[in-house]
Amino acid sequence: MKSIYGITRKKLEDYFINNGDKKFRATQIFEWIYRKNINSFDEITNINKKSITKIKENFYFNKIKIVKKQEDELVKKYLFELEDKNKIESVVMYHDYGISICISSQIGCNMGCAFCESGRLKKVRNLSVNEMILQVLEVQKDIKERISHIVIMGIGEPFDNYDNVIDFINIANDAYALAIGIRHITVSTSGIVPKIKQFADELSGVNLAISLHAPNDEIRNKIMKVNKAYNIESLINAVKEYINKTNRRVTFEYIMLKDVNDSDNCAKELAKLLKGINCYVNVIPYNETNNIGFKRSDFSQIIKFCGILKENNINVTIRKEFGSKVSAACGQLRSESKEE
Ligand code: SAH
Ligand code: SF4
Repeated sequence: MKSIYGITRKKLEDYFINNGDKKFRATQIFEWIYRKNINSFDEITNINKKSITKIKENFYFNKIKIVKKQEDELVKKYLFELEDKNKIESVVMYHDYGISICISSQIGCNMGCAFCESGRLKKVRNLSVNEMILQVLEVQKDIKERISHIVIMGIGEPFDNYDNVIDFINIANDAYALAIGIRHITVSTSGIVPKIKQFADELSGVNLAISLHAPNDEIRNKIMKVNKAYNIESLINAVKEYINKTNRRVTFEYIMLKDVNDSDNCAKELAKLLKGINCYVNVIPYNETNNIGFKRSDFSQIIKFCGILKENNINVTIRKEFGSKVSAACGQLRSESKEE
């Protein structure tokens, strides 16, 4: 039995065709699920009994349970319990342009970035497509408003769960499903080079964010294990290839770690590295956590760092801070709920 929330419309069409049924049943089912929010196939009134009986033999409606909700101004953090009792978190944020959700893609994360709370728990497993879709559906139900933007930046490395993330994006973007505009979907990766290349071929239009966090291999090796497999040169080449193929501007995320990657020289080196690339740098004030020793750069240094980038014609924004009071900010999400 498969979850009905985890299947793309294309795959559901193939299912119906392979069962000697009509292709358009897939669209009908999607309308019931995503527009009328049904919880059982028995609620469907415009499909014959035989087709319904058959589909019930292969698909079911599953649930993920909200077990805790914490609220701060303009932010809500949800702790979900999955069917196998594992836990994940999602965060919803209210902006002037709409409502975004930051979803998790794995339970734990194996990339081992030194500064990240989510990665302190090693990967237990990938999230299935339905578990990603249900994060959006359950939150939407809870807030009784439509979510307009999705960022895949919660727990996990999305490109280490590549196929499921691609199906998730397809369902999220499908006009008959979540109907989120492709440019309203952002995926953030720590830099798995082969997957960046594959992504460029498979899905253009999605916003791609790269967690760079250092201007050279020496620093990046110290804080991001992934750099030992795919160094900065290979990463930058993959990003250039991505931009050539998709014609899209890429975001580089850069967390500001005091005395690690935040010097004036780092800013100069970063500007040199990114010169001529269609990108912007999203500078992120580091969110300190109890368990990890890194400190946030002084605000004056963050401003100076951004100034140097600007002087060198690099587009730069400072990430607005959300949700640090409820540990819902970047890098603070966990797969457990041990501490408040
Ligand atoms: N695994 C993916 C996506 C999830 S992490 C990735 O690494 O890109 C989302 C972003 O939060 C990444 O840029 C990550 O480096 C950053 N991050 C991790 N820990 C952080 C912290 N404590 N403070 C601020 N940002 C953090
Ligand atoms: Fe994983 Fe991203 Fe955290 Fe690195 S920053 S450990 S890739 S979730």
